[in-house]
Amino acid sequence: MTSTTPLLATEDVTVSYSGKEALHATSLSFERGSVTALIGPSGCGKSTFLRSLNLMNREIPGCRIGGSILYHGKDVNTRGVDTYQLRKQIGMVFQQPNPFRKSIRENIAFAPKRHGLSGKANLDALVEESLRAAALWDEVKDKLDQSAYALSGGQQQRLCIARTLAMHPDVVLMDEPCSALDPIATYSIEETIRDMAKRGICVVIVTHNMEQAARVSDRTAFFLLGEMVEFGPTPELFSRPKDKRLDDYLTGRFG
Ligand code: ADP
Ligand code: MG
Repeated sequence: MTSTTPLLATEDVTVSYSGKEALHATSLSFERGSVTALIGPSGCGKSTFLRSLNLMNREIPGCRIGGSILYHGKDVNTRGVDTYQLRKQIGMVFQQPNPFRKSIRENIAFAPKRHGLSGKANLDALVEESLRAAALWDEVKDKLDQSAYALSGGQQQRLCIARTLAMHPDVVLMDEPCSALDPIATYSIEETIRDMAKRGICVVIVTHNMEQAARVSDRTAFFLLGEMVEFGPTPELFSRPKDKRLDDYLTGRFG
């Protein structure tokens, strides 16, 4: 790998469900410490593309991923790849917060313990570090052994982010992580996303909220009808869209 190799890149990634193409030949690259927003009308293939980045689509019966997914310059869209290991390094946060039915502490510590981390001091340190990184520590430090289900929706989503960060991923995929949340909870998650990027994590986020894309992302990719239509620095893409279809989308003529 050379210094110009992107952390993560796709080359002609095509995804189909039961033989029906949902995403056509998409090539994009993602850098360390950057946030990329995936935007476009509903059903255009954003989630499909996002889920292909850590091969999550493979769990869907009938789904086929073609093309290359280069992680650290190496194609992981191959039969032999260890998806368990890959998803540790390329974590994912979903639209609906999905904490485990366990304590706040165990939500963070569960997977690292299964991966071999032991010792109370180590686990306590990881729990604190992860909750701090997700801006949740101050709110939960006195009730770590309470159920995660007692938290608010926004707190549960930050817990899910903390749980992902506990694996020390270098990519975090987020599929509309704020769409079930109120504006204050949304703001707090956006801050966390920027912090993650500052610490070198590569974030790829699907959002239907254009203001959110403008606030959090460095680069944006616009999808339409199963195709990636335009990709570029976010301010440019929003102020000077090159493709008429993106212009129409941004000015609300469809979508
Ligand atoms: P978006 O996230 O942009 O709303 P999706 O990636 O969810 O779009 O969907 C793209 C296309 O793939 C749609 O036509 C959708 O119906 C289809 N699709 C998505 N998930 C599945 C699935 N699990 N099984 C079959 N078709 C799917
Ligand atoms: Mg989606």
